[in-house]
Amino acid sequence: MEFDDIHKNLVEILGDDNVYLNEDMSKHSSFKTGGMADVFITPSSKEKIVESIKAINKYDVPFTIIGNGTNLLVRDKGIRGVVMSLYDNFNIVRVEDDKIIAQSGALFSAISNYACRASLAGLEFASGIPGTIGGAAKINAGAYGGEFKDVFHSATLLKRDGTLIEADLEYMNYDYRGSSITDEIIVEVIVKLTPGEVSTIRNAMVLLAKKRKEKQPLNIPSAGSTFKRPKGEYAGKLIESAGLKGYEIGGARVSIKHAGFIVNTGEATSTDIETLIKKVQEIVEKNSGIKLEPEVQIIGEE
Ligand SMILES: Cc1cc2nc3c(=O)[nH]c(=O)nc-3n(C[C@H](O)[C@H](O)[C@H](O)COP(=O)(O)OP(=O)(O)OC[C@H]3O[C@@H](n4cnc5c(N)ncnc54)[C@H](O)[C@@H]3O)c2cc1C
Repeated sequence: MEFDDIHKNLVEILGDDNVYLNEDMSKHSSFKTGGMADVFITPSSKEKIVESIKAINKYDVPFTIIGNGTNLLVRDKGIRGVVMSLYDNFNIVRVEDDKIIAQSGALFSAISNYACRASLAGLEFASGIPGTIGGAAKINAGAYGGEFKDVFHSATLLKRDGTLIEADLEYMNYDYRGSSITDEIIVEVIVKLTPGEVSTIRNAMVLLAKKRKEKQPLNIPSAGSTFKRPKGEYAGKLIESAGLKGYEIGGARVSIKHAGFIVNTGEATSTDIETLIKKVQEIVEKNSGIKLEPEVQIIGEE
């Protein structure tokens, strides 16, 4: 498919610096793997996001929204159509009383730091989660007993027909690592927190960072926990019990430090990682009767 026309149209809206043809998605995925996106855009305001969607709607092309790519595995053949990335260019955050209002490309961990400085408790759990608040709001990110839904107040969503709507907790319909969001773009998020002591909040964040560093392979590319936690079990424990710690396919490996993480040892392709995900599912199911479900979202052309 030719993208010259759509490229020209999007450059008129977003400027040359925010529209890329054949963008290497390994630069936008924490696994550091994946093929090219046909068109990659980075709008910097709500108005530009809306205008871009209306322009894209004039063409019959697939559309993908991403945040910081820390929960994504992009296949080696890349992504057809237009990818909109909101990380890095759409990240203004402000505090109003006990609420934080954030553009959806702001990092969840940065918002956790804002909250601490503003003496607001409730986001300590988010301090080590490397994604955007948009990504966290979509998948109900959580850690160490905290979940995004516990602090959610409301969100502005852009529907694919170009209309903006306000979403409340009922609309989001959160469950474990999931929400009702399918193809809506989360544009702005408001979280509601509780007044607290800066030192208490900071100490909790420092403690969680220490735990993470001890338990997780943070210095090797990954997308965090590869699998969702099965009811009453731990994915990492099941994988370890199946003898898979350190198991490798190509450059993909079940982390030796934490079996719940699949890591890229340096030269992995997305195919290596996807094949290893399937192999782990198969062997764990044989060993325990439990089918692990990926938490990582696998996207792109098969
Ligand atoms: C080292 C490491 C540790 C991690 N630890 C945790 C953890 O403790 N807890 C946890 O829950 N996760 C963890 N993760 C995974 C990841 O950081 C979170 O899932 C995060 O919320 C994903 O945000 P993102 O911006 O990177 O989203 P992406 O990976 O870019 O996208 C994830 C999904 O959200 C959608 N999405 C993103 N932005 C928007 C938007 N604005 N509107 C609509 N949809 C959107 C995408 O389409 C995709 O479906 C970890 C990852 C790493 C690499």
